[in-house]
Amino acid sequence: MNEISQIKEEIIKVAKNHPLYENILKTNGKIVINRGSDHPEFLFIGEAPGFTENKLGFPFVGRSGKILDGWINGRIDNYGITNTIPIIPLNEEGIIRPPTKEEINFFKPLINKLIKAMNPKYIICVGKSASSFLEKNFKLCEWDKNIGFIYHPSYYLRNGRDGIDDFKKLLDKIQPI
Ligand code: URA
Repeated sequence: MNEISQIKEEIIKVAKNHPLYENILKTNGKIVINRGSDHPEFLFIGEAPGFTENKLGFPFVGRSGKILDGWINGRIDNYGITNTIPIIPLNEEGIIRPPTKEEINFFKPLINKLIKAMNPKYIICVGKSASSFLEKNFKLCEWDKNIGFIYHPSYYLRNGRDGIDDFKKLLDKIQPI
């Protein structure tokens, strides 16, 4: 087994022992780790799986994913996508909620291990959860060395926008590494 597959196995094992796993059992859902390349030039980091992701087992395959794909397609060939946590966070009523600090911190060592093994040239924080995960200040359409920042697609969806202009702005300002 290669290193990435090993880390993914570790994430699955640990996730199955976390209270959030109840959400997967209740919804007949899936643990969601990554999609795209295991060794991407650009790694996109979101927040947490939503309902479509929970059903299909891959990050950003719902409405937000359509926006993200619109940014990537035709601009970036070698990309990967992951999230700060691998399980859908739900409240008591089964409604999606943001992940807690504790949940993020619980998975952080393994998600960081995954990111390190993927060894991306650039990381794009898709929203503020990802930038705080990486302990970076979110600065829209800016780079901090090889880490770039853009709002989460759900922000653009809420505002009836596709975010393409911001994404192009971000790519235009890329720092040569
Ligand atoms: N939003 C995220 O942050 N991640 C996903 O995988 C889907 C929606």
